Amino acid sequence: MTIRIALTGFGKSARDQHVPSIAGFPHCELVAGTSRSGETADGVTCFADLGALLAAMPGQSDAAATCAPPDVHHAIAADALDAGLAVLLEKPPTATLGEIEDLVQRAAACGQPLHASWHSQHAPTVRAAAALLRGTVVRRLRITWREDVRKWHSGQEWIWEPGGFGVFDPGINALSIATAILPERLIVRAADLQLPGNRQTPIAADLTFAGEDFSAAFDWRHQGDEERTIEIETTTNRHIKLGDSGASLFVDGIAHPVEPRAEYPSIYARFAELVAAGQSDVDVEPLRIVADALLLARRTMVEPFVWTAGE
Ligand code: NAP
Repeated sequence: MTIRIALTGFGKSARDQHVPSIAGFPHCELVAGTSRSGETADGVTCFADLGALLAAMPGQSDAAATCAPPDVHHAIAADALDAGLAVLLEKPPTATLGEIEDLVQRAAACGQPLHASWHSQHAPTVRAAAALLRGTVVRRLRITWREDVRKWHSGQEWIWEPGGFGVFDPGINALSIATAILPERLIVRAADLQLPGNRQTPIAADLTFAGEDFSAAFDWRHQGDEERTIEIETTTNRHIKLGDSGASLFVDGIAHPVEPRAEYPSIYARFAELVAAGQSDVDVEPLRIVADALLLARRTMVEPFVWTAGE
């Protein structure tokens, strides 16, 4: 079976990850795309939006993959489900909990598979770390996700707008790994957000979770090599460290063997399984944690953020 995919939003994620992953996976085919600017990938027929694509190519798509910013996922996915397509959502799946709940209900009502993908959950160490932590009691969790917004999000105005997530756009990747590997739920107790005076979303966030010593620090003002680590200590003094966004794993200081990173090929393999089985897979936990942090947030205004020329 080949899943014929209509891809919406040809930005960085689509170009760098989705297009090559679909091309390299025998059970999926990219049949067309949508882009307001008219930019897609080489050889991909482009339409202004999903409605125009479906009208011009009736019956020629089985699924929609949404790679636009998260605040437009709900509208695109709802149209796709209503048109009888399966849906693969990029992370974060939607801008709000209400939107993802609505999509889950629509998918169930129309019998179409819906998959909220979290690419970091497909990082090569996640399964091994989850297995190591199963049945343990965690005493300490420290998530550190620091990177330079100018390097990774150059020119992306949407990240600073309501629904754009700010530093939680990368931070939610860390949360998606943490929720996949920890034996217990993460409950937000406090959140300190730093907002540039001219922006709507945070440039840095410090979260405290329920538990003896559970915290996360996200910062977009970091210079130099990015730091994306999750460190965990159990009550039996086992120390587990995932480095490089889950690409490396150290257990009690000793490197654990890992496969090469292949997150997006793994996402499409999972999506193909779901479509073949007619099932949905929607993990809301990372989004729920960000929503809880925003509900509890203590906000501090910091210096305005301005892109430099050429960004
Ligand atoms: P991006 O480079 O800004 O691309 C987003 C694309 O969506 C744009 O090219 C734009 O194309 C389209 N778009 C923007 N606003 C839209 C709207 N209102 N309606 C319809 N289409 C719209 O962003 P990105 O980095 O690819 O991120 C997109 C999503 O992927 C985010 O949720 C992000 O978290 C996730 N993601 C990104 C990366 C990465 O490496 N950047 C990695 C993993 C996941 P047109 O203007 O041509 O329509």
